[in-house]
Amino acid sequence: MPAVLPVDEDSIARAASLLREGKLVAFPTETVYGLGGDATNGEAVAAIYAAKGRPSFNPLIVHVAEARALDALVEWNETARTLASAFWPGPLTLIMPRKKDAPVSLLTSAGLDTLAVRVPSHPAAQKLLRAVDRPLAAPSANASGKLSPTAPAHVAESLGDKVDLILAGGRSAIGVESTVVDTTTLEPVILRPGGVTREQIEMALGCKVELHGGAASDAPASPGMLASHYAPHLPVRLNAETLADNEAFLAFGPDAFIKGGAARLNLSPQGDLYEAAANLFAMLREMDRPDYAIIAVAPIPETGLGLAINDRLRRAAAERT
Ligand code: AMP
Ligand code: MG
Repeated sequence: MPAVLPVDEDSIARAASLLREGKLVAFPTETVYGLGGDATNGEAVAAIYAAKGRPSFNPLIVHVAEARALDALVEWNETARTLASAFWPGPLTLIMPRKKDAPVSLLTSAGLDTLAVRVPSHPAAQKLLRAVDRPLAAPSANASGKLSPTAPAHVAESLGDKVDLILAGGRSAIGVESTVVDTTTLEPVILRPGGVTREQIEMALGCKVELHGGAASDAPASPGMLASHYAPHLPVRLNAETLADNEAFLAFGPDAFIKGGAARLNLSPQGDLYEAAANLFAMLREMDRPDYAIIAVAPIPETGLGLAINDRLRRAAAERT
């Protein structure tokens, strides 16, 4: 099993020196735990894909401590500036044009001429990025296609010795991944709903913003938008309003009127979407046991953080190939 160290000055220094040697370090962020590698080092980036079993056409997000650190990597436009100043540091990823001479491995962006970038707010992520003083490529710290980790134990379970060190910083406060916004198109588009809501983005930009796939098409805009993702081992059934005896029930809001099922957990008895997002992956993990046949999930409202929660649930329930 990999070393798991609480976040302090020594562990940050140790993590930073491992990363500079091309090793992989899992670290806490406000969204989910990230599997970090030096984005300027092609071998480190290749090791991230290998550790996750992630297809190499699914590009990674580059993390930096502050927006200024991106000047050497990407081109800014008005939309990117507005969104960066409204939501960074925080759970927002921007797709921006990559500078030709950007010192970031081409593998990071899977050969695309754009780069996905983010400034996380978690204090441990901030300390680590400043200590390494290099951009870090960091997808979620789990095997590709499986449930995202929101606690250090989830990382150890999912990746084991494939990660060199886990920095332990408690439970992730937000619990779903960052919102990905493509700022390179004429009109910005949300490629993945996440921790910043569509409403917040529209408010900051002063216009309506489309959600990719919200319209007619099923075609992925970003190579990583695979239909089956975030999947537990058990099949997932959505919008459950009645239960079979062998089903584990993931409820939302008052649930006493729904009878039966073999087990149940409630994402948020008060019906709070922030609480539900923070609990989502940990509760799916808890119910993912051979004792049950199916995880049945209650309907979740399609507003605010509900967009991100429903996106993850639809992919968890999607047919697996
Ligand atoms: P993850 O690292 O698992 O949180 O996923 C990152 C998401 O960002 C995936 O859906 C990627 O496909 C997407 N992404 C990363 N880089 C780009 C890019 N340059 N253009 C479009 N989407 C991207
Ligand atoms: Mg992921």
